[in-house]
Amino acid sequence: MVSAFIQRNVIQRIITIEGQVVVISPLRVGAGKSAISPGELARDVVLKDSTGRPVIPGSSWKGVFRSAGERILNSKGVKVCTGIGRDICLRNYGKYEDFQRFLKSDIRQAIDTFWKYTCLNCKLFGTMSVSGMVNFLDSLPIDYKLNVRTMVAISRTEGASARSALVQVEYVEPNSKFEFKLMGRNLPNYVVGYLLTIMKNIHDGLTQIGGHKTRGFGFVKFGNLKLTISGDPKIGEEDKEVPQGLNNVQGEGDDFFNKVKPYMEVFQNVKIPYPVSG
Ligand SMILES: [Zn+2]
Repeated sequence: MVSAFIQRNVIQRIITIEGQVVVISPLRVGAGKSAISPGELARDVVLKDSTGRPVIPGSSWKGVFRSAGERILNSKGVKVCTGIGRDICLRNYGKYEDFQRFLKSDIRQAIDTFWKYTCLNCKLFGTMSVSGMVNFLDSLPIDYKLNVRTMVAISRTEGASARSALVQVEYVEPNSKFEFKLMGRNLPNYVVGYLLTIMKNIHDGLTQIGGHKTRGFGFVKFGNLKLTISGDPKIGEEDKEVPQGLNNVQGEGDDFFNKVKPYMEVFQNVKIPYPVSG
């Protein structure tokens, strides 16, 4: 049965997770390389807001969460698409045209098709024309320092042999701090547990963010975290309730992840009923 997880016409729960991101190793969330002019080093700059402060856009968080989540779901043996290119659930199951048709003629059928033939990541983070059930806010800095490091970049352009060039890479220094906030609607406890598992993965250094990961960039930790849930105690038949008092949890990094373990256990033990096979 379709749960409220993917329903937009009802609000049964509001979920917020907010806190701080502490930069542990150099961090480069990029704006892309600027053009190389002759006799000048290429510059690879960090993304900044209109006042020149570095920013981690919500879209970057979404990408990090989706790909880290994909690895977690794969290791759990749960079917999941990459969401990249043509590897999208509705296409993989040959239901894209049906879904588009139902959207115009029969919304219940559309919702039913979406429930049956999409993975957790498609539902949570969105797919094709359907927006996800979680939103990541842009992370603005609380405290930061920028620096530049000159690196050797190997560029391979088609038809040419590999050549190396020096690139000036701008990055955010360790100990810088950013805000973090995500908001979700109608997320079951196992999905809250899934998001928390991804965050713990990042916090424990199993997932890096931004560029130059092979050079050790992009390790961050979470601090000063707060989880707030209002509304129903669970969403859908496959979901499980957590002990009372866990709809308002606060704590520093490790302490917080310890307190919210019951959500992660619901995720570990859930039998996800979608996508259906065939
Ligand atoms: Zn999918």
